[in-house]
Amino acid sequence: MTKRQHQFAGEYEAGMLCDWLNSGQSSGRQRIIEAMALYNELGPGPFPIFEKKTRRSKIVWRLQNLIDRHSYKFKLMGDRTVLVPAGGAGDAWHESHSMQLVHRLRQMDLLSRVMRCDGCDIWMCAKMPGNRFHSVACRVKTNQSDPAWQARNNEKRRKKYHDEKQGGAL
Ligand SMILES: [Zn+2]
Repeated sequence: MTKRQHQFAGEYEAGMLCDWLNSGQSSGRQRIIEAMALYNELGPGPFPIFEKKTRRSKIVWRLQNLIDRHSYKFKLMGDRTVLVPAGGAGDAWHESHSMQLVHRLRQMDLLSRVMRCDGCDIWMCAKMPGNRFHSVACRVKTNQSDPAWQARNNEKRRKKYHDEKQGGAL
């Protein structure tokens, strides 16, 4: 097995998924975004298929609906046998492919890391849990325009200045 040249498991999948979501608007993209949100709401564990008319059972029903749109076939490619969308072209093909990526990321327990950047709304994959911005520049820019952050930062600076002054006086 060739080792993938990526920084973390799932980066390849998350990168392809985010690239497609960021490259335009379409009903196919909306369905993929919906499927991700539903899976994340459901969380890990067995599917509640025996529950009757609960929010969770409705999610499972809707997810099955979204999945039913897609079919796949095996194809020999390079040194591997891969599963590829069985039909469709353009947006339909990308939607099926993205649905595959969603499931691969879910298997790796990384689906909840695929999210919109808090600063600029583009799709990104958080490298670490808790990351909210797609870049350092975006985080700085967003924080600087947030009055609550400014207030906290000013307070910190005041304290630092005060401490340094005290330190100097000793
Ligand atoms: Zn951003």
